[in-house]
Amino acid sequence: MPELPEVETVRRGLNDVTLHQTIEGGDVLLDRTIAHPFSAPDFLAGLQGTTIVQWHRRGKYLLAELEKAAVSGQRLAVSGQRLAVSGQRLAVSHQPSAVRSGETSIVAFPHRQIAASPSATYSPLPTPHSPLPPYSWLGVHLRMTGQLLWVNQTEPLEKHTRVRLFFGDGKELRFVDQRTFGQMWWVPPENAPEEIITGLQQLGPEPFSEEFSVAYFTQQLQRRRPIKNALLDQAIVAGIGNIYADEALFLSGIHPQTLCVNLTQSQIERLRSNVVQVLQASIEAKGTTFRTFRSVAGVNGNYGGSAWVYGRDGDVCRNCATTIERLKMAGRSAHFCPICQRLKKG
Ligand SMILES: [Zn+2]
Repeated sequence: MPELPEVETVRRGLNDVTLHQTIEGGDVLLDRTIAHPFSAPDFLAGLQGTTIVQWHRRGKYLLAELEKAAVSGQRLAVSGQRLAVSGQRLAVSHQPSAVRSGETSIVAFPHRQIAASPSATYSPLPTPHSPLPPYSWLGVHLRMTGQLLWVNQTEPLEKHTRVRLFFGDGKELRFVDQRTFGQMWWVPPENAPEEIITGLQQLGPEPFSEEFSVAYFTQQLQRRRPIKNALLDQAIVAGIGNIYADEALFLSGIHPQTLCVNLTQSQIERLRSNVVQVLQASIEAKGTTFRTFRSVAGVNGNYGGSAWVYGRDGDVCRNCATTIERLKMAGRSAHFCPICQRLKKG
C-alpha cells in the first residue's frame, strides 16, 4: 500500500510533468472509481477545460489545484470575479517566500500559519466559507494499488485502467488500479476540498509540520493502547502506514506492543524524530519498493532494500543478528527485533 513517501514521490512526479497543462477530456472505465460527483460524465465535465496549477499532498491524498480559463457566455462573469480574487491569492502565496525552497511547495493561506517543511508538502486546506478564490480541485487517493501514469494516449491500455484524463500533445494521465479501492473526486469551486473529500477532515497534522510537536505527540499518547496502533492512527499523525511505523519503532528501540502510557518522555521524543527521519529518507529514495508501486514515470523506488525490520521476519537483525519476528496487531503485521525492541511491562 502506498504510504506518505510514495504518495509524495508521485506528487513530485506529477508536478514535473503536468503543470500548466489543460485537461481536454477523459474517459471513465470504472464508474465506482469516481467518488464525486456521483456521475462520471459530471466528473469529466467539471475537469474539462481546467488547467493544473499545482499538485499538493495532504496525508495520502493527492490534490490538484485547477483553474479554468475564461470561456464564453455566462461563465465570463464568474471568471472575471475569479481573476480578481486570483490576483489577491498570488500576493498572499508570495508573501512567505521562505517556505518555497527546493522541491518544497507550500500553499500559504492568509488565515493559517505555515511551517516551513524540509522535504515534503504541507498544504493546509481552506476552511469552508473562507475568502479564498473559487478554484476547483481534483482529488486522488491511490489506496491499495492505485497508480497514476503519464503516458502517450497511443500507449496500449493496462489491464486495470480505470480513468483516463487527456491533455494536449497526445498526452494522458492514466489511473490504473488493480484492486479498485482507489478514488477520484472533482471538487467544484463552491466547495472546500474537505467538504467533498470527507476523509481529509479526520487527518491529524502532517509529520513535517510544526503542529507535530513533542508536546502534541506526548498529549496524543496518554492512552492505554499499543504504540504501533497509535502510529497507524491517521488522526494522530497523517500519512504513516505499516512500513514506516515498524521502521521508526525499531530505530527508537520500542516494542510495537508497548502501551503509549508506558513510554518515557525521551522515548516519545526519539520516536517523533525517527518518524520524521524515516519518512524523509524514503522520500529521498523516491519511495519504497512495492511490488505494485511505480512513480508517475514508471520507475520503482528503492527504500525496501534497506529496511531494518519491515518484511524481514525470519532474517537477522542488522544491529544484533537476532531473528526478526512478526506478530499480528489490529489486523496488520508488526515486524520487530525482540532484543533491540524489548517489551517493558508497566
Ligand atoms: Zn536487534
